[in-house]
Amino acid sequence: MGDLPPSEKPAPGPLRIAILGGGIVGLTLALALAQQQQQQLSDPPAPGSNTPVPPPFTFTLYESAAHFSEIGAGIMIGWNALKVLRALGVGEEYEALARGCWLEGGGQAVGRDGEGLFFQFRFGDGRRGGEPFFTMRTPGGQMNTHRAELLELLLAHVPASCVKFQKQLIRYSQQPGGSITVAFRDGTQEECDVLLGADGIKSTVRKLMYEARGDLALQEPRWSGSYAYRALVPTEKVLAAVGRTITSTPMMWLAPSQHAVHYPVAGGKYINVVAFKSDYTKGRCPTWETQDWVEHDVDEKELMKDYEGCASQVKAILELVKRPSRWAMFDVPDLPYFVQGDVALLGDAAHAMTPHQGNGASQGIEDAHLLAHLLAHPKVTPDNVSAALKAYELVRKDRVQRIKELSYETGRLWELVSPAGDNVTEFARVAEDRMDWIWSVDISKQLQTAVAWFEMSLA
Ligand SMILES: Cc1cc2nc3c(=O)[nH]c(=O)nc-3n(C[C@H](O)[C@H](O)[C@H](O)COP(=O)(O)OP(=O)(O)OC[C@H]3O[C@@H](n4cnc5c(N)ncnc54)[C@H](O)[C@@H]3O)c2cc1C
Repeated sequence: MGDLPPSEKPAPGPLRIAILGGGIVGLTLALALAQQQQQQLSDPPAPGSNTPVPPPFTFTLYESAAHFSEIGAGIMIGWNALKVLRALGVGEEYEALARGCWLEGGGQAVGRDGEGLFFQFRFGDGRRGGEPFFTMRTPGGQMNTHRAELLELLLAHVPASCVKFQKQLIRYSQQPGGSITVAFRDGTQEECDVLLGADGIKSTVRKLMYEARGDLALQEPRWSGSYAYRALVPTEKVLAAVGRTITSTPMMWLAPSQHAVHYPVAGGKYINVVAFKSDYTKGRCPTWETQDWVEHDVDEKELMKDYEGCASQVKAILELVKRPSRWAMFDVPDLPYFVQGDVALLGDAAHAMTPHQGNGASQGIEDAHLLAHLLAHPKVTPDNVSAALKAYELVRKDRVQRIKELSYETGRLWELVSPAGDNVTEFARVAEDRMDWIWSVDISKQLQTAVAWFEMSLA
């Protein structure tokens, strides 16, 4: 049977969007889509028409776990992502949470120039008596919270009816020109028109996408040569050990091949401590020796052994850490594509990076904002949604992969093994140039460029 003439074709139903994964990025996408949906449904009907506007799209978020959860640690939202949260209408809420973590004397408050403290840098091996050698500022002030607080905030804006738990994707398939069938470990299946993989660094969507094209080896995450001990320490203990200035101030202690970071979180009740250790002698992608990337309940003596010889203030803080977790720092190599047909990757699934610029989740938040905007475009249909996904890839891939590579370089900068070494003037110049470029993104321009690409592809 031939194709029906366009006038006799049934109007396509609403676009059915499936989001895989309910971490920070999947939830931001769900929030952004819910917001777009609300906006479109509240649009008045066309003049002369009484028909209510049909829902432009529907979406469901599938999460493999039984409930949403985040690890017990802090997270920093960069100025670039704060602009997105503001555009999504949750910026003020987030800023209130972050400001609630600031402690007296911490210096994060935003000054007349619109900037507040980002981090204070000191040598962690006691050089210069452990006194600050550089203070870096950020637009909007330092925006850290406990991860669970951020997750809760996002969740409050996502309709519960759009979320399904205990849905672990194991497979998807698509007939040419047809819808996508998504299969879950519990034996159930769902149909959708577009599948968005926000399922983290070990993404199943990414593996299936690359496997289908014989490209599996191109997407294997790689160890960066670094690992980090993570813990939350009660603030009063840190205050008693090192005094108010060091406790309150977001701080980085730098030494060759290691650096320790700390800042207050959870309404200032805890100090989030992350102590990195690296081995740069084996090159960029050495092999990580153990099966697990994350070990829990690690003997704190191992941390103290790794930090032997550190400055007395760092030692005093690390001695308060009990049974930390230890994380191997992996990233995803530069993927040749984020999109195949009606399937796209975002967040860590597309570009997991080392955490040295505090911008991995922030980049995923940029992805989510852009994707939601494109998918809500009034001209998107199940037949052309792949063009909208392509526009997302065209705008996001180069920027985020550049940031990912810079993040690795920034780890070397913080650990005094970059070309800047311990030259404080050069160190400060490189750090400021890099972070300014990341933070100064024009998120409206990103959207406009992507929409223009999509509209051009329809012409
Ligand atoms: C030490 C450290 C510090 C960091 N600090 C910062 C920081 O300060 N600022 C910042 O911006 N970033 C930071 N990051 C990076 C940030 O943590 C990540 O980029 C971010 O959490 C990724 O979010 P995501 O939603 O993409 O993935 P994830 O958080 O990994 O979420 C993926 C979700 O998908 C679900 N899932 C997985 N597989 C399936 C499946 N098959 N089916 C269904 N669901 C599935 C999982 O259960 C999970 O809920 C840091 C990272 C590390 C390691």
